Amino acid sequence: MGKIQMKTPLVEMDGDEMTRILWQMIKDDLLTPYIDLKTEYYDLGLKHRDETNDQVTRDSAEATKKYGVAVKCATITPNAARVKEYNLKEMWKSPNGTIRAMLDGTVFRTPIIVKGIEPVVRCWKKPITIARHAYGDVYRNVEIRVPKAGKVELVYTSDDGEITKTELVHKFDGPGVVQGTHNLDDSITSFARSCFDFALSRKEDLWFATKDTISKTYDHRFKDIFQEIYDNDYKEKFEACGITYFYTLIDDAVARIMKSEGGFIWACKNYDGDVMSDMLSSAFGSLAMMTSVLVSPHGYFEYEAAHGTVQRHYYKHLRGEETSTNSVATIFAWSGALRKRGELDKLPELVDFADKLEKATITTIESGKMTGDLARITTLPNVKTLNSEDFILAIRDTLDSML
Ligand code: NAP
Ligand code: MG
Repeated sequence: MGKIQMKTPLVEMDGDEMTRILWQMIKDDLLTPYIDLKTEYYDLGLKHRDETNDQVTRDSAEATKKYGVAVKCATITPNAARVKEYNLKEMWKSPNGTIRAMLDGTVFRTPIIVKGIEPVVRCWKKPITIARHAYGDVYRNVEIRVPKAGKVELVYTSDDGEITKTELVHKFDGPGVVQGTHNLDDSITSFARSCFDFALSRKEDLWFATKDTISKTYDHRFKDIFQEIYDNDYKEKFEACGITYFYTLIDDAVARIMKSEGGFIWACKNYDGDVMSDMLSSAFGSLAMMTSVLVSPHGYFEYEAAHGTVQRHYYKHLRGEETSTNSVATIFAWSGALRKRGELDKLPELVDFADKLEKATITTIESGKMTGDLARITTLPNVKTLNSEDFILAIRDTLDSML
């Protein structure tokens, strides 16, 4: 059988540490034997980001605008320790932050459900998808450490100078800290639209929550924009589809979610989504079982795993020790991107391959072959814990038996 031919390239964003090792194995063992893989390659590994003064990150986002679909490996967000470890010129910003800011849009994270990995929350029967607003708030903040007594004010001046507004933030009697955050009506609007569209495409209810009782202007703006767009453009479609839009306070949402059975999309502000997606992924089983896609309102898609570069495993790997790192979310990043590429380019065989790759991955785990993180928590009997590469090769065996 010939290899599947692609029409348009995928934007391939390579990354760091253990996920970079898995990335190559996935390509070699699960993709290139079956697909004439066309990618436009960008090396977002920290060393190359440093060499290019992070230009490679911006270039990869531009390429995503050009081709529409990207697949990204986990990357290091440098901190002080990384600056030393890699001898960096600068503490470069989070590549995900840079890419999200350039593409706008919303990140949807859905746990991959397999038999034998039961959610910690017993009533959860279906996946809960988190939609994280990918712009602004604390991720675009400015901060000042207040050195001594003084006054901090929030001042707005319109470009034409017509309107000025001043609010006293605090009159400090001594040292402290202050932070300024912002968001944009446009960004909140596209966030809302991505969420409503995604809920319709998945035929699942949409929940949204903020702290509008405390933040009567900032968070309330989010609530109002969602409601306005829902009433004007989505109410009828939702009713026809048999799904609902539900708004509540963030703390109420958290309490209800712990008692729900899942099967809905939870729209979160940027910070809530960052934190809650980590809680949900570990409660659903493993960080390594969480898929992630950035959906931009302009029709761009960027697929990745929700977890990081798995640094601890990488150092083991460097010491020549065996690792058992779970590649499932990274495999699903590839299958998600290939499926979307296939849909956009009208290549049913590529879509079919993506489906089979996911099915082979799930079947392999359900047959008892899995990595250590899952073996520790599974309820399946007779489990075989495989190392990083043997797990990928076991998926390949399953895939071969399906093709
Ligand atoms: P992490 O890479 O997600 O790993 C945290 C821990 O979770 C691991 O030590 C491991 O636990 C477990 N884990 C995560 N993924 C796993 C997998 N695929 N298979 C098995 N176990 C897995 O987070 P981190 O160690 O805090 O961060 C490492 C680097 O990743 C940082 O430099 C951070 O900046 C970066 N990061 C990148 C992204 C991204 O690019 N999207 C996201 C988050 C973090 P055990 O050690 O107990 O086995
Ligand atoms: Mg997080």
